[in-house]
Amino acid sequence: MNPTPGLWDPGWGHTMEAEKARALLGRLRETLARSIGVDTELSAIGQVDACRRRAQGELIPLAHHMRAMILSMLGAHRSWRPIARRLGQLELVFGQYKPAYLEHIAPRQLAAEVEQLGCGNPRVHAQMEAIRPNLETMQRIEQEFGCMDAFVERVRPEAVAQLLGRPASRWKLKEVGPAVAMEYLKLVGIRAVKPEAHVQRICGPQRLALLDGHETDEQAAGKLRRIAKAAGADPVALDNMLWMLGARDYGAICGSHPRCDVCELRSDCSFPRARTLVQQSTRPAALPT
Ligand code: SF4
Repeated sequence: MNPTPGLWDPGWGHTMEAEKARALLGRLRETLARSIGVDTELSAIGQVDACRRRAQGELIPLAHHMRAMILSMLGAHRSWRPIARRLGQLELVFGQYKPAYLEHIAPRQLAAEVEQLGCGNPRVHAQMEAIRPNLETMQRIEQEFGCMDAFVERVRPEAVAQLLGRPASRWKLKEVGPAVAMEYLKLVGIRAVKPEAHVQRICGPQRLALLDGHETDEQAAGKLRRIAKAAGADPVALDNMLWMLGARDYGAICGSHPRCDVCELRSDCSFPRARTLVQQSTRPAALPT
């Protein structure tokens, strides 16, 4: 029994009634659909599709790993949505991310074309210079491990991100730190265990209370996975939708200053009630008449 209406009680053995989970997801989708095309954006983010392909055992070619690495670099230091809008044009700029093309194309030309598309960032010149050495590093990895897929699947995603992003690592990719490496991993269908910080805030005890805030990263990811499963949804899609709810250039609804008035999740959420109570308690008392 859930003791507080609208709150997710972790004491339910971390399961959620299918009906409630489906309703929650429906309200999340409905809220997002007011400002964005949910399926279009999920498809442009690409993680759901990448995870599905990996789950089906599809081998991800080196060109796709290069694409993920390049897009992750471009997405650092800037918002993602304009890049998502230009994926087709970027595909042409980078020659379908084929290694034979990337080995020979001049970094300066790439940077100019990326900037023309409005997809640049303050590091874009250094990032384009990094493509060739990073391709060589990935080719070295393929020689040693057989293929990039074997490498990215061999240990936990966080550990792979360290191997690719930590300065002293022999597999360090230029212009890629652990955070960008995590983005790269998601784009090749490897799921991080840790839900992102603002997904954790949305799901935390002060908002949707899907998490109690005391879980390890793995437990938090497990709870969100189970909610998605109960709702019959893809866990990656749930994670992406929660992220979009807060992201500035997507839903822009549940950020640091939540816009609860336009959110269908109000009945599931502690925040609007708490905010009303605070407002009532700080309102000046009416003068006696
Ligand atoms: S805090 Fe407000 S915007 Fe965020 S989920 Fe709750 S009701 Fe929606």
